[in-house]
Amino acid sequence: MNVRVSSSDPLTFSFTAATRIVVGPGAIRRLGEIARDLGATRALVTSDRGIVECGHTAAGIESLCDAGLATEVFSAFTENPSSSEVEAGTAVAQAFRPDLLVGLGGGSSMDCAKGINFLHSCGGRMRDYRGRGTATGPMLPSIAVPTTAGTGSETQSFALITDDETGMKMACGDPRAAFRVAILDVNLTLTQPLSLAALTGIDALAHAVESHVSTAATPASRTFSREAWRLLAANLPHVVSGGGSIDTRSAVQFGAALAGFAIENAMLGAAHALANPLSAAHHVVHGQAVGVMLPHVVRFNAAACGSAYANLLADVGIAATAGEAGSTLADWLTGLLATARLKTSLHGCGIDAPDISALAAAAASQWTGGFNPRPVAAADLAALYEAAR
Ligand SMILES: [Zn+2]
Repeated sequence: MNVRVSSSDPLTFSFTAATRIVVGPGAIRRLGEIARDLGATRALVTSDRGIVECGHTAAGIESLCDAGLATEVFSAFTENPSSSEVEAGTAVAQAFRPDLLVGLGGGSSMDCAKGINFLHSCGGRMRDYRGRGTATGPMLPSIAVPTTAGTGSETQSFALITDDETGMKMACGDPRAAFRVAILDVNLTLTQPLSLAALTGIDALAHAVESHVSTAATPASRTFSREAWRLLAANLPHVVSGGGSIDTRSAVQFGAALAGFAIENAMLGAAHALANPLSAAHHVVHGQAVGVMLPHVVRFNAAACGSAYANLLADVGIAATAGEAGSTLADWLTGLLATARLKTSLHGCGIDAPDISALAAAAASQWTGGFNPRPVAAADLAALYEAAR
């Protein structure tokens, strides 16, 4: 879907949703047919080892083989895929010569598929593709089959790859790296442990909140952010407390995908800029790092976007003025973190003596912070880390 509105200001923007989504329990069985529809004959499947072990990869391979495709699996990568791991996957691709890439797994599997697509299709090194619109030529078609509900990697074109030399996460995106199709099969999310459902779900919620108030947000992207928020805010509390039905899990999976569409068009904000250095320097997993920082960022941002936060609160049945919405929403988010048994402070994450100035300098260099609704200088970022101690 492409929507382009060109009229008098302020309704002048473009919006892209490049990925077709195929939704339904058992939809993974359609992977082979969908691959054939893309004209593919040879599929390289990236799946992390845990996903291979629990059988989801075999289900995908079976569907591909039934449709007559030759397949190869690459699984030698970690939770935060590194540039050298992507290079290893690219070597596998160069030997196998795929005409389709399939990212089957959580965010790491999908990001790894995108990373391999950049290097296999365009050459060079991963760091050459930092930022947006950096591909130098056509890329292979690709399909996402997410097994978690959170990163939104299935519906946005950015690969998060860790630079081996600096330890920092690089966001590498290009519309040509977006998956052509994302298969949302809720059954695949049922095997993830509750802790992973919480980590990925909080990340998705942060994507909805940050993209909703981003400086790059448009009426179209906010439509996706808002609906993602409604789905996630209503259903995530049930899922993270262990009571999620198929319907609530489907809603969370769909909400996470909608948030991905929003990110693709509106980017994120300071919570993600602050989270990435915590992952790089202290190995805090992404959803936890974002979750710790988001309430503090919401309080900080309220002066710039209190009425937008009040709208989000109204969606969960809480009336708040623009002036009080920041602290009310921050408290709501902190309560959800506690329900999800996630940490609510840096101390809780095991960081007792953070080097705040080094963390703030690293956060200030994060591209995504530039889209925060209230400008954040290094001193602001340091104060936000202090508030989270
Ligand atoms: Zn995130």
